[in-house]
Amino acid sequence: MTRRIGSGSLVIATHNAGKLKEISALLAPYGVKCLSAGALGLPEPPETGTTFIENALIKARAAAEASGLAALADDSGLSVAALDGRPGVYTADWAERQWFEGEPGRDWYMAMGKVEGMLQAKGPEVARNAWFSCVLALAWPDGEHAIYEGRIDGTLTWPPRGTLGFGYDPVFVPQGRDQTFAEIDPEEKHRISHRADAFAKLVTDQFGA
Ligand code: IMP
Repeated sequence: MTRRIGSGSLVIATHNAGKLKEISALLAPYGVKCLSAGALGLPEPPETGTTFIENALIKARAAAEASGLAALADDSGLSVAALDGRPGVYTADWAERQWFEGEPGRDWYMAMGKVEGMLQAKGPEVARNAWFSCVLALAWPDGEHAIYEGRIDGTLTWPPRGTLGFGYDPVFVPQGRDQTFAEIDPEEKHRISHRADAFAKLVTDQFGA
């Protein structure tokens, strides 16, 4: 049986305030008190893994070792079947502007365009299947860990549609729907997303009967 977090404190290994808020709200009903790696002054380790699992574990283990508490980290991204699963763990990197393109920061329109350009280069018959993955890694200071993997399948559309959500949402149409993630009500997206799938598995395993 997997080791349980119980109702103790849990470090959320993210420096992203939005993620901390979302994860704290999801775990609050189970009596888990979430502390942020940022507020504890924990360093952000480089994400040198080549899989979502490796990167989530790197972050969770670093936070658990530095804090002496159980820690939870996530890693997520978009995989495109016809591109052999790319951008995958490099999803955010593909949105990184180069220094010669002006202001530093992320440009999601550019990233969506890059994926689309690579797909179109494969010809009009190319399969447009893609999926979002979310891996949650729980790590304890003694090295024990648990992994929960979530996924949502869909297809990529072009041009981008919708203004809700973030990242690659405007080009991702989840299976069985006509609207992109950026056109679907955020509450509905949060019910069906890769993140919801991974959290449901964590909650069942950690707090289920
Ligand atoms: P990370 O897990 O914070 O490293 O983020 C990986 C990247 O995957 C994000 O910056 C987004 O571009 C992309 N991504 C992850 N989840 C979603 C989603 O639900 N919609 C759109 N893009 C996503």
